[in-house]
Amino acid sequence: MLQLSPMSHHQAQLISEWGPTTYFLNGAEQPDAATLAEFARRNISIAPAAIDALHGAGGDLSHVQLVDGSALPIEALFIGPPTKLNSHVAEQLGCRINSGPFGTYIEVDEMKMTSVAGVYAAGDITRGGGHTVTFACADGVMAALAIHRSLITSAAQLERAL
Ligand SMILES: Cc1cc2nc3c(=O)[nH]c(=O)nc-3n(C[C@H](O)[C@H](O)[C@H](O)COP(=O)(O)OP(=O)(O)OC[C@H]3O[C@@H](n4cnc5c(N)ncnc54)[C@H](O)[C@@H]3O)c2cc1C
Repeated sequence: MLQLSPMSHHQAQLISEWGPTTYFLNGAEQPDAATLAEFARRNISIAPAAIDALHGAGGDLSHVQLVDGSALPIEALFIGPPTKLNSHVAEQLGCRINSGPFGTYIEVDEMKMTSVAGVYAAGDITRGGGHTVTFACADGVMAALAIHRSLITSAAQLERAL
């Protein structure tokens, strides 16, 4: 597991459930004492040095080369990179954008409406974490329901005004 964000410690602990795990600090600071104790309990070893290169044949990784000259064999390298919005549309519309340990995301209320009335968003772009297909689908359903409801309400208001 590669240290990339404050959540990487937590992710390393999850991954250690699957097998022997090395936590690559990649030159970053050591985790705090509580995290180190938890790592020890889970047999997660720490490689403090910065990574120099990844080696392997084809799509397979074989080992990580560290700048201190050591090379550690690995079968896979997990990373949890922070996400960013792929378009400026939300920003251009004036939607409030938040920032968290997993990256930037659009703020929405429980009905998936953004901070701009009438603008809705759903899925990963609205979540500071917990990126799964199930949540994204549920968000989409909620946004669709809310949009439909708002259109009906708007139509009724329009009829009354005419
Ligand atoms: C490697 C990996 C493994 C994963 N494994 C799992 C798993 O096992 N189980 C699970 O539940 N979840 C998994 N996830 C998470 C899951 O894929 C996401 O939570 C889910 O796809 C989010 O759905 P979404 O519709 O919000 O976003 P996305 O699926 O990212 O869909 C957004 C779509 O919008 C398009 N788009 C972006 N910008 C624009 C633009 N400007 N104009 C037009 N189109 C645009 C993109 O091309 C994309 O098709 C995994 C994610 C990754 C990266």
